[in-house]
Amino acid sequence: MKIYLETLGCRLNYSEMETLGRQLVEAGHAVVESAEQADVCVLNTCAVTGEAARKSRQWARKLARSNPAARLAVTGCYATLAPEAVAGLPNVELVVSNQRKELLAELLQPWSAELDGEQWRRLAPDAPLHRPERTRAFVKVQDGCNNQCTFCIVTVARGPERSRPIDEIVAEMCRLTAEGFQEAVLTGVHLGGYGSEEPARWPAAPAAGKLSPLYALVAALLEQTDLPRLRLSSLEPWDIEPAFFDLWGQSQGRLCPHLHLPLQAGCDRTLKRMARRTRTASFRALVEAARTRISGLTLSTDIIAGFPGETAADFEESLRFVAEMDFAHIHVFPYSARAGTAAASFGGHLPVEERRGRVAALEAVAQQSGQAVRRGFLGQVRPVLWESLEQPANGAAAVWSGLTDNYLRVHASAPAGLSLENRITPTRLATLDGQVVWGEVTSNE
Ligand code: SF4
Repeated sequence: MKIYLETLGCRLNYSEMETLGRQLVEAGHAVVESAEQADVCVLNTCAVTGEAARKSRQWARKLARSNPAARLAVTGCYATLAPEAVAGLPNVELVVSNQRKELLAELLQPWSAELDGEQWRRLAPDAPLHRPERTRAFVKVQDGCNNQCTFCIVTVARGPERSRPIDEIVAEMCRLTAEGFQEAVLTGVHLGGYGSEEPARWPAAPAAGKLSPLYALVAALLEQTDLPRLRLSSLEPWDIEPAFFDLWGQSQGRLCPHLHLPLQAGCDRTLKRMARRTRTASFRALVEAARTRISGLTLSTDIIAGFPGETAADFEESLRFVAEMDFAHIHVFPYSARAGTAAASFGGHLPVEERRGRVAALEAVAQQSGQAVRRGFLGQVRPVLWESLEQPANGAAAVWSGLTDNYLRVHASAPAGLSLENRITPTRLATLDGQVVWGEVTSNE
């Protein structure tokens, strides 16, 4: 079969589709670049906000329109939360929940038998096959979340925490390194919940001096693989034990000095109603410890604007705290009521315009602190992993685009006749260019 894979949402969703793509190719199917070429389309949906759910429906209809002959299988959080609604969309013949997503390759198999085998075998040898990205791999290490943040539908859609064994992840990392990947990003719904389902084997709460299961996983990956760069995706602030920062000192620069710590609000009153297990004082202390222990660290975060009951004074307090934290990147989300979450039934929901106004104010802070963080690294030489050659819209010369170890987007002019794709080079961070830093490749050895 020729199969087209489309993914919406988080890194975990991308990681799951990369794995599915690999399984399908190993089973002899072809992963193709467009729905028009496909016998089957698979859509991995998202439902973190109302807008994400709307986009998931929109994409399902778009795939059906772009190839009415193709069968459509839909999975992911929206398919898990609204299976009937998804089953009613055009061309949808299979709806698979998150809990059964890992069986997708098997669940699609009967279709290849039904589809004319002859047709399958007739796959044109020059059919453009989808070459998955070879620069950075998203590696799923756990799924689910046992927390109950009052705004969050993900914990409903993904279920309780469950983790992959360390040796299985180490083996995958070695395979990815052998395939030429330069960087891997550890992903999960609640990364800090890694290993929580085995309290006997791993003490759940990272008590003083006790190392968390995630510490053990990262240490094993640094010791047992040659992967050049290891990055952590989102980490809940309450999951990090003080000793966790020692890992950076032991990694010889392989563990990327960037942490994404979702704060969600900079006001304790709001954090309490969100049922977040952090407060501004403990978050500030964690950030100070991280900055002291991890050289070249940058921080990013998620902030919800306009949570039900957030007064103007709460918001001002939140804005001040967010500005104080000097985040390099801030993902700002207008509060989105999700049926099935506790906050959806809270009082004090704010009008859309008010939420939009608060998003704009937070994005202004994000712009300023991001620029200040980038400016602070000018003049430094940092390792950049180059991803792609980009052709500016104004017809100017093509530029290479990549990310530093501490997650700054960098552009650099293309050395004549030399491809930087999927290479890590020391690069001087020279000037600011909007959201991007302009770099000079100091050596391409
Ligand atoms: S920690 Fe909170 S926000 Fe994150 S997935 Fe779990 S419940 Fe949702």
